[in-house]
Amino acid sequence: MRETLEVDILFVGAGPGCLSGAIHLKKLIEAHNQTAAPSEKLEAVSIAVIEKGREIGAHTLSGAILDPIALKELIPDYQKMNAPLGTPVTKDSIYYLTVKNQFRVPLVPPSLNNQGNYIISLSRFVKWLGELAEAKGIDIFPGFAGTELLFEGDRLIGVRTGDKGIGRENKLKSSHEPGVDILAKAVILGEGVHGSLVKQARHRFNLDDGKFPQVFAIGLKEVWELPTESTAKGQVIHTLGYPLRHEDFGGAFLYNMGQRIALGLVVGLNYKNPYLDPHEEFQRLKTHPLIASLLVGAKLAHYGAKALPEGGYYSIPKSCFNGGLIIGDAAGLVNSMRLKGIHLAMKSGMLASETLLQALLKQDFSERTLGQYALLLRNSWVGRELYQVRNFHQGFEHGLLPGVFNAGLQMITGGRGWKDPLGSRAGHEQMRSIVDYYGQKTVSPAGIEVDGEMTFNKTTNVYFSGTKHEEDQPVHLLIRDTAICHERCTEEFGNPCQRFCPANVYEMVPRENGPGLQLQLNPSNCLHCKTCDIMDPYQIITWVPPE
Ligand code: SF4
Repeated sequence: MRETLEVDILFVGAGPGCLSGAIHLKKLIEAHNQTAAPSEKLEAVSIAVIEKGREIGAHTLSGAILDPIALKELIPDYQKMNAPLGTPVTKDSIYYLTVKNQFRVPLVPPSLNNQGNYIISLSRFVKWLGELAEAKGIDIFPGFAGTELLFEGDRLIGVRTGDKGIGRENKLKSSHEPGVDILAKAVILGEGVHGSLVKQARHRFNLDDGKFPQVFAIGLKEVWELPTESTAKGQVIHTLGYPLRHEDFGGAFLYNMGQRIALGLVVGLNYKNPYLDPHEEFQRLKTHPLIASLLVGAKLAHYGAKALPEGGYYSIPKSCFNGGLIIGDAAGLVNSMRLKGIHLAMKSGMLASETLLQALLKQDFSERTLGQYALLLRNSWVGRELYQVRNFHQGFEHGLLPGVFNAGLQMITGGRGWKDPLGSRAGHEQMRSIVDYYGQKTVSPAGIEVDGEMTFNKTTNVYFSGTKHEEDQPVHLLIRDTAICHERCTEEFGNPCQRFCPANVYEMVPRENGPGLQLQLNPSNCLHCKTCDIMDPYQIITWVPPE
């Protein structure tokens, strides 16, 4: 028997956006009640946050840069409240890498200047926000993945969470528990990039109409433990060039936290080469003399991957509708030039809450009232910051040099660049077939030898990701037609899922009955990066939250 739970406001995803939103809403209600007449007080407003991870922070990895602008607004005395701010940034450098050399860019552009920012463990930071939220009486439910939006007519009325205790063949196990229907007056979707619920809302309410398609990148990250405290603590390095080709968008980052280094590579998910493997390029990055010299004696501690929304201002979907709002990465709020989104997620959660306060006062959760959020967002520093870089990623669709030129031009034209808007195409449409890209059919992917110390294969990396799934559960990667995988995709693209997935979830293995290859899935390796749902050239993969 499925249970129903009713709350006033439901936040989906315990990331920085939803937790900031929930805390801010509670504060706004408290402030309102202090001055409101007794009949106008908002009494016992129930606020809940659901999170698919087993605990808050389980889906975030150490080593991110926080611009504290939103934190200062949310919790002005954050230092007294022991905010886990990690390491202040002390130095920024940018390098252009060739195979064996590096060239330091003499000037760091303002967008990559991190003075005043912090290298944080995002996992610790969201745990801290979670504790503050709970102390304010907000109910947080970890281990509950929202799997389905619930509607009444043209209004979102809640979220159904996933069933637990279903076996791989869809048989109910003794531990079976049906999911819960959580009904709310308003649902705030902050489930991160390319969330499955936001996908449902986008289709239901045509939220992408009139917008440019969202384009994404995949960010792969490793955290390394250093043998002794580094003297370069607080150093931030960004690189362009090797191991990526000029036709690919992306670059590397390295954040030195003293005892640990976070190293990552971002690769635009609009690459053309069907044989490109972002994980393999990440391994190549570590063989570069500059990077290798910084990791001497270090040991791999963690690995992770996540997609990043890169489309920017013109790709932000309509983020308000009857009964709901979208915030943070889920709404595409990332400044791809600064490679930052935490502060934008936090502020968007806070602006959502300002709208929700009005909705609670009027008891009107229709788009008429919730639509105020879009206006607040556009007129806030979030809107202004994103408007200043509105054509950044699109400039790189023409290659590295035009991209860098356009980025420079943007800085003096207030974001215009050489054309405004520059426009873009969905990333999966930009991958070319093997014949088209290489001019012949018989090319094989280059591959890379890994040494198990500095470079790793995907299976070893997954071991360091801490990924844990119940093995006996239905496959959470829904493939509409595997005949396409076995025939057209093998022929045209050489099954790129094997390469763009950073966790070896997709493998082509010899067919059990007959010649050729068949797809084998290893879903328990999944890192929830959503890359397969984004980059599959036929758009036949749907990622849904596993148990
Ligand atoms: Fe990412 Fe998809 Fe691979 Fe999971 S299966 S790790 S979501 S690409």
